[in-house]
Amino acid sequence: MSQLLKELNEAQQLAVTSSDGPVMVIAGAGSGKTRVLTYRVAYLLEQGVDPFNILALTFTNKAAREMKERVIGLVGSQEARNVWMGTFHSIFARILRVEGHLLGFPSNFTIYDTDDSKSLIKTILKDLSLDPKIYVPGAVLSRISSAKSNLISAEEYKANSAIEEQDRIANRPQTGEIFLHYKTRCFKAAAMDFDDLLFNMNLLLRDFPEVLFKYQQKFRYILVDEYQDTNFAQYLIVKKLAARNENICVVGDDAQSIYGFRGANIQNILNFRKDYPDAKTFKLEQNYRSTKMIVNAANSIIAKNKDQIFKEVWTENEEGKLIRILKANSDTEEGNMVANAVFETKMNQHCQNSDFAILYRTNAQSRAIEESLRRLNIPYRIYGGLSFYKRKEIKDLLAYFRLVVNPRDDEAFNRIINYPARGIGKTTLEKIELAAGVSGKSLFEVASAATHYVKGLNSGTISKIEEFTTMIAAFHQQLQVLNAYELAIKIARNSGLLKELAADDTDEGQSRVQNTEELLNAVKDFSEKEQTLFPDEETGELSAAEVTRTLDKFMQEVALLTDADSDDKDDMNKVVLMTIHAAKGLEFPYVFIVGLEENLFPSVMSLQSRADIEEERRLFYVALTRAEKQVILSYAETRYRWGNMTMNEPSRFLDEIEESFIEKPARKISSSGLTGKSGDGLRKESVFIKKQLKKISTAEGPAVQGAETPPELIQPGVEVEHERFGKGKVLSVEGSGPNMKATVFFAAVGQKQLLLKFAKLRLV
Ligand code: ATP
Ligand code: MG
Repeated sequence: MSQLLKELNEAQQLAVTSSDGPVMVIAGAGSGKTRVLTYRVAYLLEQGVDPFNILALTFTNKAAREMKERVIGLVGSQEARNVWMGTFHSIFARILRVEGHLLGFPSNFTIYDTDDSKSLIKTILKDLSLDPKIYVPGAVLSRISSAKSNLISAEEYKANSAIEEQDRIANRPQTGEIFLHYKTRCFKAAAMDFDDLLFNMNLLLRDFPEVLFKYQQKFRYILVDEYQDTNFAQYLIVKKLAARNENICVVGDDAQSIYGFRGANIQNILNFRKDYPDAKTFKLEQNYRSTKMIVNAANSIIAKNKDQIFKEVWTENEEGKLIRILKANSDTEEGNMVANAVFETKMNQHCQNSDFAILYRTNAQSRAIEESLRRLNIPYRIYGGLSFYKRKEIKDLLAYFRLVVNPRDDEAFNRIINYPARGIGKTTLEKIELAAGVSGKSLFEVASAATHYVKGLNSGTISKIEEFTTMIAAFHQQLQVLNAYELAIKIARNSGLLKELAADDTDEGQSRVQNTEELLNAVKDFSEKEQTLFPDEETGELSAAEVTRTLDKFMQEVALLTDADSDDKDDMNKVVLMTIHAAKGLEFPYVFIVGLEENLFPSVMSLQSRADIEEERRLFYVALTRAEKQVILSYAETRYRWGNMTMNEPSRFLDEIEESFIEKPARKISSSGLTGKSGDGLRKESVFIKKQLKKISTAEGPAVQGAETPPELIQPGVEVEHERFGKGKVLSVEGSGPNMKATVFFAAVGQKQLLLKFAKLRLV
């Protein structure tokens, strides 16, 4: 027996070795579905299958990278790198860059993100004189997105009377018209949004049989993770690609289907056996991830859902700790309690920051948690929200890169034509827009020949526009000549962007400069990546054709990064903050699930129907099952939402967990950490810190105990005494030398900010 198989249980072995013909694995969380896929790829390679013939689709790029590394570890072969592994979007973007010309797209097409799409919708609303308060861009966009996920084209949408009726009732009768404009504009700009990648891939396979044939032959083995969350467009691509060889293996868990709101269809799982009557199905029931407590609590929750395929999940893992529930008065207090509990657990269990995940329903909840973590100096990283690639300064520089790569990219053009300010005003832009509409040209094309296309511009304006377009055109010329970094730095400098950013010497301004430098560093890294020989994907033959790593290649990678993707080395040992949606498939020793309140989780949007509540419950199930060792739940009685203080009932999900799995009574942890049981933890922690301090002080001179403590030894987390305010705990420290300040929470008088030079604090 292959060595590989020894690391799998019997059911997993069967699923891995049934390599020919359709296979479906439906199983509960943590039962090794992803492991089965990984080992299956390794097994296929071991059996001599060419890596170029294997297609493995995962939910995030990160998951794909991890899987690839794992496979390389298992079969020890560089060949494993050549397996086509990635998200639906990244794999199909890659194919569309080669085949998209059949649909009229150049290979350097831009991928629009949600902001680009929204901004385009706003332009269209303006053109059609529609009110953005009625046609809320985000809502229009999700309507268009859901149509495309169901493979309904703009033309079909507009011609469909049932859809028209729906839109009329929703008081948005012009949605079809907007959709058509949206499609035309994207095409003109040589741009696709995320849904288009799937939609166009379907068109390609539907209308070009030779392309279908080519990829059917290529992908002899297809594997799909998280199959329960595929939408119709994804389902159909997989079905078509697999139709010839039928070597398809899908794994999923209906209890974890959480993208229904985006058009994912749980029926895809149920239909698998109809699509492939010969399909072998395997059940995995043993959970290897979590304690008995967590597995049983999660089972007790999901049992409340009516719609589900019956599964039994059990584990041989240890009993584990009861689930803790933290009750807070406010969202601020919730943040403090969670941060304190992280600190406490870290000290007691000697674990890493990266052993903790704090999961929430909506991105907005991260702020209060972040503040508390910062106060205790606990490093964290946020996935989603305002992630690096969504910051303004980063998007600005990327927009320059985009326009240089694809001058037809209208959204990029709009973003930077007058940034940094070069005296090209709104009216001028409107004139260019109008001319572009009339001529069917892109904004850049029109601007490049402004005297020809745009009437009524004065010569001053024309020369400003010319200066801009000449600059971009010159960069474009150098695209294949310079490497990515050489060109990127040139763009950043010559465009005036760096100068503009440097001129702002506020802290925020400086951090924007740093972010921009970070992006340029990323380009540099990319440019300098080891220049290996490049294999021909059809034949596997190696050639040295691709030696310069150019900016367009960099942009192809960046465009597909999603929130859960980037993993910097620096980011390794940090507490992870993310939405539950983003946590799918991942695992962490300690998991906090915060904001367990009615109207927040379950979300207020879901309270209308049983199906929606069930989706929220599945989301809760996903959250619980991320944990290996312990789950801590929290809720706040009051919370700021949309600028208002709201009062909240605890979530129904708290009541739904069987009582015997919950720590009783739900104990109160003071947010200051000075009283109650958590105080014990903090005392331990301060003993720990004191020990450390002693080490420092014996090494450096006199003992600190009793005497006034040198300011540099005052650190967040230590307990101190003040002559007048009494005992307290240091929350944060800032500044240095004579300007060093500390924020301290005193049991008697509350929070104070002190200048250490005068405060004369002593360690307790
Ligand atoms: P989810 O539903 O959350 O995606 P999953 O079913 O994909 O979970 P995996 O992530 O593959 O589960 O496995 C959960 C954990 O259990 C992983 O750490 C995995 O390495 C481990 N595991 C799975 N099967 C085995 C096994 N046979 N022996 C040892 N460890 C295993
Ligand atoms: Mg998985």
